[in-house]
Amino acid sequence: MNDKMKAVVCYQQNDLRYEDVAVPNIGDDDVLIQMDACGLCGTDIQKIRGNTVTKPTVLGHEVVGRIVKKGKNIANYALGDRVITAIHVPCFTCHYCNKGHYTICEQFRTNNIDPGGFAEYIRIPALHLKHLTHKITDDINDDEATLIEPIACCLHGLKQANIHAGDSVLVMGAGTIGILHAQLAKIKGASQVMISDISPYKLDIALKVGCDYAINVAQDDLVKSVSDITHQLGVDVVIIAAGVSSLLADAIKVVRRAGKVIVFSGFDNSPQITLDASRFFKDEISIIGTYSVTPYELPEALDLLAKKRLNITQMVTHHFSLAQLSQAVDLATNPSEQVLKVIIKAHL
Ligand SMILES: [Zn+2]
Ligand SMILES: [Zn+2]
Repeated sequence: MNDKMKAVVCYQQNDLRYEDVAVPNIGDDDVLIQMDACGLCGTDIQKIRGNTVTKPTVLGHEVVGRIVKKGKNIANYALGDRVITAIHVPCFTCHYCNKGHYTICEQFRTNNIDPGGFAEYIRIPALHLKHLTHKITDDINDDEATLIEPIACCLHGLKQANIHAGDSVLVMGAGTIGILHAQLAKIKGASQVMISDISPYKLDIALKVGCDYAINVAQDDLVKSVSDITHQLGVDVVIIAAGVSSLLADAIKVVRRAGKVIVFSGFDNSPQITLDASRFFKDEISIIGTYSVTPYELPEALDLLAKKRLNITQMVTHHFSLAQLSQAVDLATNPSEQVLKVIIKAHL
């Protein structure tokens, strides 16, 4: 193997360069994979467009690939195995881990795959191999495999939602994450799943994959629509899957008594909002934040995909090569484009 490979390095805001970098060296307990596909996540776009991460860096974390090299201590993987992984491993023993909040563990964000998913070859370090890596059988295709990590992130949030059979659920935001949440809410037993967005294109996909109601908030009033659908009761669970903080105030207007609002999105751009605080005491509503994914949700995501419980085909709208990552980001962020999930593939 050559000691150089191609990767897309993000040097500064909006500055992505497809260039030669060194193939990572592996240790005795690591493996090296050749990337087959890597999903483009909303958080990758935020990091490319914004200033929240130290650059230069290689982004990408929804990755599937084949093992092409392994350390001498690796016994449970063979060359050629197709695997997925995720990017952060908690310590399992700190104050937060002990309380089950693994994703805010101090160690969590300090470790990563090397150099990132948007590269020809990726080193999976020993810790990631032990806790986050799973073999994938051929009945899960590359598109599906790249969605295991985001599905697992949604499952992490849905644990807090504790959906019961017969519950009504509203998902705010019909992006990939919103539509995955809607499908998962159905699987968890929700009887009515509503989704809201301003894009007729995305709402249409949401309906095609099983949402019961699509609310176009560019035309219709959200509070009135939810009230009509639920016979004035409100929804048991609201999931916010769009990074607009004012949605939280709306969520509190439409959540049913004893209901839960799950905040899945970052509100960094406008963190201050006004909301009706009277509902906490008299209606026992809760707002719960959820971030990223723990090792415990990945097997469930894998199982749901293996059993074909989710409709992924309708959600993947575009494929690009690694060299075209910059183009892919432009497309994904262009509001006039009809685009949902974009996946980078090693071979188009
Ligand atoms: Zn992601
Ligand atoms: Zn910890």
